[in-house]
Amino acid sequence: MKKTDFFYPQKMGQIILLGMEEVMGRNGLASVLHLASLDSLLQNDPSEGAFSFETVSGIQNALEQAYGPRGGRGIALRAGRACFKYGLKEYGSSLGLTEMAFRLLPLPTKLHAGVKAFADLFNQHTGQRVRIEEQENQILWHIDQCPLCWERHAKEPVCHLAVGLLQESLYWLSGGKIFDVEESACIARGDPACTIVIEKTPIS
Ligand SMILES: [Zn+2]
Repeated sequence: MKKTDFFYPQKMGQIILLGMEEVMGRNGLASVLHLASLDSLLQNDPSEGAFSFETVSGIQNALEQAYGPRGGRGIALRAGRACFKYGLKEYGSSLGLTEMAFRLLPLPTKLHAGVKAFADLFNQHTGQRVRIEEQENQILWHIDQCPLCWERHAKEPVCHLAVGLLQESLYWLSGGKIFDVEESACIARGDPACTIVIEKTPIS
């Protein structure tokens, strides 16, 4: 794969910015983008083209610089959750997730089909590669090429935005249940893939 293949489409990049703005406000977002030397993203010019993985990880890195690892993590999680509704608006109907027939499926089927549809969305429209591994009690969401921690190095997993996004996706898929979602491996830490573990049985 060429280096130039590592992109999110413009629409997805905007969804990340919208989620962050919802959590941090316009000024908070502006200062994080400034810290990442990405001020131009605020001008919202769709002709700017795609968001490189470098841009996506640069924003995550700046969040930690601005708020510290713990504070940055909290904001990234919340921003990930906030992104979901914008993503659903943009992609939900094309994924078939908003159809009544899908909504009425039993929960295990819905989880399986929903997670698969989300993975396909990334695999088909971005340079991010997602592999789903189904286990008895867990679904493993493996990211082989991860924009969130692209070219980063860290002691702990750092792809919190993906964790928040998956949490909110599952909350929506299940009609309001909370699932335990945790990143257990991260390329930034030297692991071969970023792995997010989803417990199939909801907490509530
Ligand atoms: Zn990652």
